[in-house]
Amino acid sequence: MSPIRVAIAGSTGSIGTQTLDVIAAENARVPGSYEVVALAVGSSAVEVIEQARRCSPHLVAIADDAARREVADALPGLEVVADLVEVVGPADVVVNGVVGFAGLGVTIETLRAGKRLALANKESLIAAGPVVQPLRAVPGAELVPVDSEHCALHQCLRSSIHPDREVARLLLTASGGPFRGRTADDLAGVTVKAALAHPTWSMGPKITVDSSTLMNKGLEVIEAHELYGTPYDDIDVVVHPQSIVHSMVEFSDGSTIAQLSLPDMRLPIGYALGYPQRIGSPFGRIDWTALSRLDFEAPDRSTFRCLDLAYDAGRVGGTAPAWLSAANEVAVDAFLAGTLRWNEIPDVCVGVMAMHDGATPNTVDDVIEADAHARRIARDLLSKRST
Ligand code: MG
Repeated sequence: MSPIRVAIAGSTGSIGTQTLDVIAAENARVPGSYEVVALAVGSSAVEVIEQARRCSPHLVAIADDAARREVADALPGLEVVADLVEVVGPADVVVNGVVGFAGLGVTIETLRAGKRLALANKESLIAAGPVVQPLRAVPGAELVPVDSEHCALHQCLRSSIHPDREVARLLLTASGGPFRGRTADDLAGVTVKAALAHPTWSMGPKITVDSSTLMNKGLEVIEAHELYGTPYDDIDVVVHPQSIVHSMVEFSDGSTIAQLSLPDMRLPIGYALGYPQRIGSPFGRIDWTALSRLDFEAPDRSTFRCLDLAYDAGRVGGTAPAWLSAANEVAVDAFLAGTLRWNEIPDVCVGVMAMHDGATPNTVDDVIEADAHARRIARDLLSKRST
């Protein structure tokens, strides 16, 4: 059997490096299972040079000009390009682990090419849902989510022959992040370091902050709606601090199917690489003698206001999710830079959404424009706050 050819966009990030782990484990188990054919990064020259030396891809895409020259000099003979979407060409499966809105192009191009998209970049589906959805009908195009909750839902939904008729509700679990149980007043002065100390998951900084505000969970509600077509009224969030149950589906007969595993992103990555088969390398197995309890509680929606902001934007639809995602990215960047307080992140989002124009995007350019517009408003709000 010829190897499955994999392209990794965002190869030096958290998802990218874990994808290389999964591929190394599977190739150690069954040599030649996977071949890494292309890597794409924004500007991490040193890391991508090391990765390219290790896995000999056909092509490396690197957006930053200076970093691209550095890579080309270090790896003579390798095709080095500027446009991240060029990784799609040589691949059977494209893992999109680009952080933030910059991942949209890879999502669009992979589906347009009729290939499998292992999608970790949730912003591209959330912000560009109306543009991405029609592309899922391209013959061969297949979207498998690389997000623990949506991977769990994907697995649970396989237990139904008619999910369109039989799904009563989706239950997304949330760890609650590092600030679970704290009050809004209590959280006014939290530091970047505290927000980055996630209790159960090891992830990149942007998504870790989003987990601390529950914006990540809110965006995942939109993502679940986009992926599975479930109405917002039938998607619930339940806080589950152990992060063992990764999400659940309740069916029309009252049965609930849950997916349980240790919190390790290499499972969803491997699921997306291997689907519809399962890979043979387990990344951790549950020790039932040590797992004494599984707790569930309702989210604190007044302290973690971002959750309902996402439900609201999802229900408005059109460019509203794009606006919210953009506003949040700007606010989180400001928080990480030390110029915005943690509890002001939702304020920036509320301020931006108050100016939403009710538009619906029809093209990628519409989405890009909506994103840019919302970012301008968010930066404007931020500059007014600091003067
Ligand atoms: Mg998740």
